[in-house]
Amino acid sequence: CGVFGIYAPGQEVAKLTYFGLYALQHRGQESAGIATFDGQQLHEHRDMGLVSHVFNPEILEQLPGQLAIGHTRYSTTGSSRRCNAQPVIVDTILGQLALAHNGNLVNTGALRDYLVARGCEPSTTIDSEMIALIIREEVNAGKGWIDATIAACSQCVGAFSLTIATPDGIMAIRDPYGIRPLVLGVMPDRVSHYVVASETCALDIIGADYERDVKPGELLWITEKGIEAIDWAPKAQPKLCIFEMIYFARPDSWVNEESLYSYRMRLGKQLAKESFQDADIVIGVPDSGIPAAIGFSEVSGIPYAEGLIKNRYVGRTFIQPTQEMRESGIRMKLNPLRDVLNGKRVIVIDDSIVRGTTSRKLVKALRDAGATEIHMRISSPPVTHPCFYGIDTDTQDQLIAATKSVAEIAQQIGVDTLAYLSWEGMLVATNQNPKNFCSACFTGDYPVEIPDGVKKSKLM
Ligand code: 5GP
Ligand code: SF4
Ligand code: MG
Repeated sequence: CGVFGIYAPGQEVAKLTYFGLYALQHRGQESAGIATFDGQQLHEHRDMGLVSHVFNPEILEQLPGQLAIGHTRYSTTGSSRRCNAQPVIVDTILGQLALAHNGNLVNTGALRDYLVARGCEPSTTIDSEMIALIIREEVNAGKGWIDATIAACSQCVGAFSLTIATPDGIMAIRDPYGIRPLVLGVMPDRVSHYVVASETCALDIIGADYERDVKPGELLWITEKGIEAIDWAPKAQPKLCIFEMIYFARPDSWVNEESLYSYRMRLGKQLAKESFQDADIVIGVPDSGIPAAIGFSEVSGIPYAEGLIKNRYVGRTFIQPTQEMRESGIRMKLNPLRDVLNGKRVIVIDDSIVRGTTSRKLVKALRDAGATEIHMRISSPPVTHPCFYGIDTDTQDQLIAATKSVAEIAQQIGVDTLAYLSWEGMLVATNQNPKNFCSACFTGDYPVEIPDGVKKSKLM
């Protein structure tokens, strides 16, 4: 999911939020929503579909206010229905509260039990709703916004980057491990106007200056008094999702002051060092495989070429909920360039193989376009384990590398050779301490303990 928040009295916050969500569209395409506050009054609109479909100028005009939050949803828990669109809204004795959540909690069952014991029966099983309901319970029991939110977050286990709107201000919160990203920006010339967003690309689009990342275990409270930063959780080893770095976040975003485009290019360079192959051209699978393909070409000396053209108007294949939809989505998405590929030995670079559906179809299309040899190189290691923290890489039995060797995968997808980047190579290519990342989908080493019942739902 993508989350956004803005505190900017006197500016058109709904419109700025719309643009912010537009830049975060890649993080979720199922539903979108905005909540604003003008004084005490909350205004909101949310619906299924893309940001540009959910909102229009008339709707945005009905969202007045000086502060806002927004959300684009990518369903990892709960089904894909309108009532699941965020922000989640709850009524408290201090007024209404709107919450937008990116990430996945692993202790939803325990949170539900806690709420039921307090006489509050949640109507859904959605983790994001549980967080909002617990904040409401705490507020109604007499706590202020901040204490109530900290009390609620302290009970949450798993991944959460949150933006919260109250009548008085907005909050930005990251879980103690900082599994999902969240950044803070400032509007130029208006130093008291702040923006928070999942990625820096959402700051760029509204002309906000990047200030810093929200720290793991940090809560920012932004009001008319300015910004207050609270370390709400005990210090933990940060565990940013490495999949954000290699695939999920936009290449023009920066995470921990590191350009993802440059990182992905370095992955390609590392890949060329690890698994060189003689060939005529290097191509990347658009869009996510391109930076690594350029890096691979640079180190290998094999010319980079565009071999596949992507239809820009088809969404990321994996975000569509069913396998059937995914399959038909993929056919619409990529078209090979026959004049580039015909008679060539081709190295194809992609960022990851998850289920193997994209690769299989792609390889067939490249052969049909005349490629004589196809050598696939993947700029991350084999995905062998499911994610419980908010990336929908599916259940373990759906992951091709969970049950098949590299040689078997090569055969199944129909390539001449296949090689993945090593786990060490993936981590070495960052500019950061390798310990600062979660890479559990490549290792099964989950940094935040998964309760047994939850584990069973996805592991073989
Ligand atoms: P596959 O067909 O192997 O499931 O899809 C792999 C390709 O699609 C890669 O190009 C990757 O960019 C993208 N992709 C598909 N599904 C997912 C997913 O669930 N997570 C991630 N990170 N990438 C995916
Ligand atoms: Fe990211 Fe993989 Fe960890 Fe999930 S398991 S948070 S996708 S690195
Ligand atoms: Mg891709």
